[in-house]
Amino acid sequence: VLKVENLSKKYGDTLVWDQVNAQVMPGQVISIIGPSGAGKSTFLRCLNMLETPTSGKIFYHDQEVTQMKDKELQSLREHVGMVFQNFNLFANMSVSDNICLALKKVKGLDEAAAKDKALALLKQVGLADKADSYPSSLSGGQQQRVAIARSLAMDPEVILFDEPTSALDPEMVGDILKIMQELAEQGMTMVVVTHEMSFAKNVSDEIWFMADQQILEKGSPASFFQKPQTERAQDFLDKVL
Ligand code: ATP
Ligand code: MG
Repeated sequence: VLKVENLSKKYGDTLVWDQVNAQVMPGQVISIIGPSGAGKSTFLRCLNMLETPTSGKIFYHDQEVTQMKDKELQSLREHVGMVFQNFNLFANMSVSDNICLALKKVKGLDEAAAKDKALALLKQVGLADKADSYPSSLSGGQQQRVAIARSLAMDPEVILFDEPTSALDPEMVGDILKIMQELAEQGMTMVVVTHEMSFAKNVSDEIWFMADQQILEKGSPASFFQKPQTERAQDFLDKVL
């Protein structure tokens, strides 16, 4: 679905990562893990061009993302959705309107159809009763569930998650991970930057370990967690497990 060729990113003179090659297959769930500052968020944001890579190419199917103009990028972001650490909901809109906005603007649904779909999505994330609430009156976990519902509203082919549980109180984390696991079981293609090693280990098909300006290791969760190939990854696991 997504393919990255010789991708590099610099901020000024600072190299974030260099000559990265990677590929996301349909239905795959990939966990990107690695130390803080390794460039995981930057990489994820490059995948849908919220950041511009310095060199290299990204493909969505056979379309070159790195050549796309604004209009094509808008359409790309419908297919490649994103869920952020801090939810990024519109504070001045109800939960329902947060989801309806894009359904009307992007998908061209009328008010009634948009409301119906929003409600169905809220049901899916267990928040049907919060449709008329405002984000500020919801817990972090509930806000993140709305953000996931909003992302699903576009019927994306892939969803990118950047540490979706990092800003949450511990008791909320499980709810979000469960919803993500359900999405994975339904066959959604997902790329997840996460510090939740249990999710990485139990839900993902592949681990990408990012460090030292590269994706240093790619492998199955079983092999990565049992026997990482590099000392760098072993050090990382010793610290986080
Ligand atoms: P964390 O686990 O802490 O979220 P990360 O792996 O997501 O870290 P990034 O946020 O991608 O790391 O940052 C990678 C590097 O790029 C860091 O050194 C960071 O300081 C730098 N960086 C990120 N965004 C910018 C920016 N907009 N301008 C300049 N430097 C940046
Ligand atoms: Mg990050």
